[in-house]
Amino acid sequence: MPTDTRPAPGRPAELVRLEQVTKRFGDRTVLDRLDFSVDAGRHVTLIGPSGSGKTTILRLLMTLTEPDEGRITVDGELLFPAPEKRVREIRKKIGMVFQQFNLFPNMTVLRNITEAPVTVLGLSRDAAEERARELLELVGLSEHLDKRPAQLSGGQQQRVAIARALAMRPQVLLLDEVTSALDPELVAGVLDVLRDIARSTDITMLCVTHEMGFARDISDQVLMFDAGRVVEAGPPEKIFSEPEHHRTREFLSAVL
Ligand code: ADP
Repeated sequence: MPTDTRPAPGRPAELVRLEQVTKRFGDRTVLDRLDFSVDAGRHVTLIGPSGSGKTTILRLLMTLTEPDEGRITVDGELLFPAPEKRVREIRKKIGMVFQQFNLFPNMTVLRNITEAPVTVLGLSRDAAEERARELLELVGLSEHLDKRPAQLSGGQQQRVAIARALAMRPQVLLLDEVTSALDPELVAGVLDVLRDIARSTDITMLCVTHEMGFARDISDQVLMFDAGRVVEAGPPEKIFSEPEHHRTREFLSAVL
């Protein structure tokens, strides 16, 4: 059974909101007056052709890049525009897993997961390790906590990266094509872990993925992007079985 994903009393139902967000690189408009929101506890998947602006949205939420226009709100607070000090606080609510796992190569698996909770959140090392051990169990890597990233497969490294993101107890987990850099035989293990997290926790997920089966399984809502705009949005059974927009139909027939 999925856990109850209703927001706690007093928490806004809407965890992430983009209003009229425009992002340009040079004279190219990558996101064009984009509006959308994600409710707490929901799993939203962004699909669409390469270059349609999906990753840019995740990067905006991670404050790795800034919009040219518009407003971004997280958990009822403005992330953009906002003073730098507030941004640092709001960012703690957001975790991200990248295509390339970006683990610290010189640290053990355990240390990769405990480092930020200790240095950024101020947890004691014992508390951080206890949480890290729970998370390593969740991602099926309890045996590997003393290894360095290079001793693990790509799929295992990505599962460490997922545990590392969750260790910060984010309210929103951003997943950017997390299986794209993996050998095909390692993809299923990572997707299974994410399915499990989607089922067993109340975390809000925003995923960019080319894995349509996975998108269908975990999503409450699928957003189809084209040229920086959402051309169609709906539950997965609708988007994958009865797409209405011709760009959605073209995209799905190319990837399925
Ligand atoms: P998607 O995730 O849908 O493949 P992206 O958000 O990665 O699309 O990219 C959208 C467009 O923005 C692409 O044309 C890409 O080349 C361009 N782009 C992304 N980041 C940069 C950057 N830092 N500088 C210039 N162009 C960029």
